[in-house]
Amino acid sequence: MPPRARRGATTTDLVLGIDIGATKVIAALVDRRGRVVVESDRRVHRNDGPAGVARAVLAGVADCRPAEHGGVLSAGVAVAAQVDTDRGVVLYAPNLRWRNVALADRLRRTLDVPVLLENDVRAATWGEWYDGAGRGCANLACLFVGTGVGGGFVVDGRLLSGAAHATGEVGHLIVETGGRRCHCPGRGCLEAYASGWAIGELAREAIRSDPDGGAELVRRAGGIGRVTATTVTSGARDGDRLARRLMDDAGEYLGAGAVSVVNAFNPARLLLGGGVVEGWPDLVRRVASAVRAGAQPPAARSVVVGRTRLGPHAPVVGVARLARARVRRAGRRRAGPR
Ligand SMILES: [Zn+2]
Repeated sequence: MPPRARRGATTTDLVLGIDIGATKVIAALVDRRGRVVVESDRRVHRNDGPAGVARAVLAGVADCRPAEHGGVLSAGVAVAAQVDTDRGVVLYAPNLRWRNVALADRLRRTLDVPVLLENDVRAATWGEWYDGAGRGCANLACLFVGTGVGGGFVVDGRLLSGAAHATGEVGHLIVETGGRRCHCPGRGCLEAYASGWAIGELAREAIRSDPDGGAELVRRAGGIGRVTATTVTSGARDGDRLARRLMDDAGEYLGAGAVSVVNAFNPARLLLGGGVVEGWPDLVRRVASAVRAGAQPPAARSVVVGRTRLGPHAPVVGVARLARARVRRAGRRRAGPR
């Protein structure tokens, strides 16, 4: 039997939350309390292009059967990209190789509800702030350490976006002038030392210079070329010495980046999340002690360092919140001044 709509067939409090990453699309129905009611995963490939990804989004939405839940008010779409939220345009998505894609319009035509677009890290930060571990604090910083490193900031209750919608590129804070080459044109970026891709690269270099010390990681991965950050974090959990050293080094750089973030933004809470942190949660302790020792005293005294709570749901929950708020604002404008 299909699930019954909780408030009859014509009224709904559900919003679609969609998260477009480099390898998959998550679609979810999110209720007004920020809970995921139903969700779906669809694989995408970076060569699928906007039309292919839009098809995956629609298929994911169909999986969630919104009509059986009474329909949805609107849709929020989080993308791993630089986005112009006002125009609903993906400006630049390096992982998907997109430039200037009018995604909100394209999805609005087929979903037939208002569509709001936001960067995935900012959406996840908003989700943590509203419904996760950032609840109740006006000033929040989130650092997500996955394949790359990204940051999101809520300052005095407002989600920062920036002049060119590019706030939060903390992965490219310089932690070593003239240091390792980054995936951006720069050198010495935090991401070149503490991101998933960098930890994998550093591990393979360490194994090549000390094959005996790296033998266990190679065995786990099934070949040196297959050693990734996931191999390293699982090795570290099992006490492998090289893996522990690699994660210690990553923690040191992440701590340095976090000190700069705390000094710059004076958050009440600094939350760490993403796959690398999930794989090696000790990074949170390392960052907390680096911030206590290295940040300016007033900021260091007041900030609480902890973990995010929503995990992979953070972008869909956050972007659904943003989409819901926009519909509410539009409704108020239509009602006019009292
Ligand atoms: Zn960089």
